[in-house]
Parts: sequence; C-alpha cells; structure tokens
Amino acid sequence: MTSEVQARHTVPGYRPAPLAEDQLFNARHAEAYWQQATRCLDLVRRRVASVDRPFSGARPAELEGLFDAIDLDAPLGDLDPALEELERVYLKDAVYFHHPRYVAHLNCPIVLPGILAEAILSPINSSLDTWDQSAGGTFIEQSLIDWTARRLGLGQDADGVFTSGGTQSNLMALMIARDHHGASLEGHGGNKQQGLPPDYRRLRILGSEASHFSLQKSAAILGLGYRAVMPVACDADYRMDPRALEARLEECLAEGLIPIAVVATAGTTDFGSIDPLERIATLCRAHGIWLHVDAAYGGGLLCSRRERHRLAGIEHADSVTIDYHKTFFQPVSCSAFLVRRRGDLRHLTHHADYLNPLCQAEAGTPDQVNKSLQTTKRFDALKLWLTLRIMGADALGELFERVIDLAGEAHAYLTRHPDFEVLLAPPLSTLVFRYRPAGLDEAELDELNAQVRAALSRHGEAVIAATRVGGRRYLKFTLLNPDTRLDDLTAIIERIVHHGRAWGEAPAPAAAS
Ligand SMILES: *Cc1c(COP(=O)(O)O)cnc(C)c1O
Repeated sequence: MTSEVQARHTVPGYRPAPLAEDQLFNARHAEAYWQQATRCLDLVRRRVASVDRPFSGARPAELEGLFDAIDLDAPLGDLDPALEELERVYLKDAVYFHHPRYVAHLNCPIVLPGILAEAILSPINSSLDTWDQSAGGTFIEQSLIDWTARRLGLGQDADGVFTSGGTQSNLMALMIARDHHGASLEGHGGNKQQGLPPDYRRLRILGSEASHFSLQKSAAILGLGYRAVMPVACDADYRMDPRALEARLEECLAEGLIPIAVVATAGTTDFGSIDPLERIATLCRAHGIWLHVDAAYGGGLLCSRRERHRLAGIEHADSVTIDYHKTFFQPVSCSAFLVRRRGDLRHLTHHADYLNPLCQAEAGTPDQVNKSLQTTKRFDALKLWLTLRIMGADALGELFERVIDLAGEAHAYLTRHPDFEVLLAPPLSTLVFRYRPAGLDEAELDELNAQVRAALSRHGEAVIAATRVGGRRYLKFTLLNPDTRLDDLTAIIERIVHHGRAWGEAPAPAAAS
C-alpha cells in the first residue's frame, strides 16, 4: 500500500479498494488466485448440495427490484461481500439444469471433465483465432473437428471449426451455400467482393416446417429475408416429407426460383424428429443442391453404438451443425460447424496483415480464424477434449441412451393415462403432450395447459416447456438428464393434474398463489 492509502485506511468505516494491480492473474498472485478460486468452488458446492427444486419461482419484477439497490460504480472491494451479493441476486433464483425436474429446454446437465476444462481454459485464456495465440490449443480443436468429421463419415477432405452454438453454425452453413451459388455465376466475381448477386431475390432455402428458427434469422442476416425460407411439409411424425420436398423443388424450377440449400434436421427442437436423411440427400444430389444437416440436437447419437444408425445418411451432407452443449453434456458454449470439402470454407476467409496474413497461410500455419466468423474465440474445444480423454465417447453415448429410454417409458405411461393426449412416440428424448380432461373445448384446453405450466414454474416444483402444434397449446418434456427417473416425471404429471383441477375449480388461476 502507498502511504496515502494507508493514511486513508485509518479513517473509520473506510474500506480501500484493493489495488487494481493485485487483481491481475500472474505468477505473483497465483496463491491468491487459488485461495479465492477455492471460495468460489465452495460456494458452488454448497449451493448445488442444497438445491431442492429446479427454480425458485421468482418473477422478473421480483428480481428486478434487487438490482435497483446495486451501484456498479461503488465496488465492494473484496470477494466475500461480492459472493454474498451474488447468492442473493443470482444463485438463489437461478434455474438449475442439473435438477431431475428441470425438463424444459435443450439444456443438459454437464459432465465433470467439461467443467474442469473451464477451470483451465478461462485462466490460461488462449484465443483460438490464430496459432500464435493458442499453439497446442489449435491442434486440440482441429483434432476434435477431425474426430467429429470421421464419426459423421464426411470423408478425407472434411474440415470445420468450433462455434458459439447451433445458431452460428447454421448461419455459416447458409452463408457458404449462398456464396457457393454466387461463386458459380459468370461475370459476378463472387459475393465476398461484389455483394449479393443480381438474382438474389430468387434464392431459396428449403427446410421442414419443424426446422429451427435460426434459418429465418440467417436468411435475414444474409440479405435474403425471411421470405427466402420455403417451408417443406412434414409427415405425421414431424419429419420432412421427401415427396413434399420434391414438389417444392419442382415448384422452384417452374417459377424460376433458385434453391441454394436444403436444410435437413436431425432432431427437431420441438419433437426430436429426424428427417429422412438418405432420401433427402438423394434429391439434393439429383438437383445439385447444397445439403446442410442441422444435428444440433441429434448429434449426440454419434457417440451411441446402439443408436448411431438413426443418423444414417448424414455422411452425404455438404455441411453439418453439431451442438456439444446439448447432447454431448458439455457446458455452454461448445459447438461446431463442419463441411465435406474444406475449400468451401474459403468464403469465410479474410487475410489481415496484422493477424493472419496470406503468407502465413501459404507457409502452412494453422490459423482457425481463416474458417471462422469469430475472431477472438474461446477455447471451448478443451471441454470436449478432456471429456473424451477421461470418459470416452461410449460413456457419453450411454448417457444419451438413458434419456432416450426414459422418454419411451414416459410415453408408455402417458398413453395409458386417461386425462392426457400424447402427440407422438418420442423420436429422441422429447415428449409432446397435453393435459386433456374430458368436457373441455379446445380454447379451454389451451388456457388450462398454459395455466398448469405457469403454476409448476411458480411453485418451482418443475420446469417444463410448451409449444404450439396446429395452433393448439401443448406441454413438453425435453429429457436430457440421465438422473431424471420415471418417478420424477410421474410426480410432475400428478402436479399437472393437481394444478389443473385447482384451476378448474377456482376461476382465479392457481399460478397466482
Ligand atoms: C438448439 C438448436 C439450434 C440452435 O443452437 P444454439 O446452440 O442454441 O444456438 C439449432 N437447431 C436446432 C435443431 C436446435 O435444436
């Protein structure tokens, strides 16, 4: 401490802010780092050991008030009070994905090797854009891309890169499909230099009605607009109907439209349905259209010896989206985008003199930024690396198999229950259903199902998802927690019935208690 700080420190009630320099992670502070990290770890340990429900039930307005009292320009000066505050404003009311009764969205509980990798990759803080910021980290990421490409069966020329999520991967796929078309036009000079080609209003992207909304968002970002996304009808099991795809492709030809990509989904977000990849690939090949497979959800099947066959046909894809932070049980973010022909990634390449000059690429330096949308990039690959080195892929596959089996058991249970309607047998680990006691019309059923979901969340007993199918409200269990038992699900179902009856008896919604 300087003498001035020491002098002020004697003023009663005055707490000096720790010297800024003390907060730097370096050799001098390795010990302080370790001690403080232990306190953070201990906080998490105590918290996880005491969580008895997936959510406190807090409403946004209740939490918002806590933040009014916090002045970000008045630092607390020490770790302990900051952690106490954090417990109050965040951990107490956080949504706990590891809890067996969190069955809402595609959030998985995470495996220990993935979390431990976070403890290494954050302090070392490699940036995976260039070799000169990551060294061995680049080879770890590249090895995992190669491993994933081999599991997909994409062939010798495949390549890819880690991304922030399925949304970014899908954007990259559609960007490359768009630019692949642009590069094929005579006299245009390519989209990278010239912008959108003259025929851009006629470009179309075909995805099933159940495909992810990131297709629309991507189309908008890519200058094509939502209208460029042509929905293709599904069959009764929410899989893209190949005959409908064929009809759409013929429609495009007849109207002078240019289909630049077909997006098949291997595991739709709402249903878990897997589009018929072989038949779609055959149609794409016949028409010379880019086939992107969005396997953000179904990708985990790559690790299951028992269930891998469900992805048959994915090896024909021109590009693939994989979300390790869904069915590979990795912490957010951890995802990848892969292509069959590495040369197609050139549409993403820009050589900056200060970062990744062309001469560096020509000398064979492996700079990941040459194939990435991101520049500075987290070393998320380390999580999957440590997971594979400690547990191996089969163990991940077994975790996924457990939730697939659970979905089957829950489906059998619900179909026998007289007051429930189940939409379809679960293609993966998602169960879509609604509470349907006799004597209510469709509008009343919609209201009832919305109310029971809100009541479950408000009481913090369970967090479940909802969706609309054919305009009607449905409830959804997205099962990704191998620790969830059928008993947990039957208990949630009992609570649905309980809240449903309470709502039926009192006009005031049970959720308002
Ligand atoms: C989750 C999901 C996405 C989006 O992935 P993020 O990692 O959330 O960006 C895309 N497609 C499908 C089918 C998904 O389930």
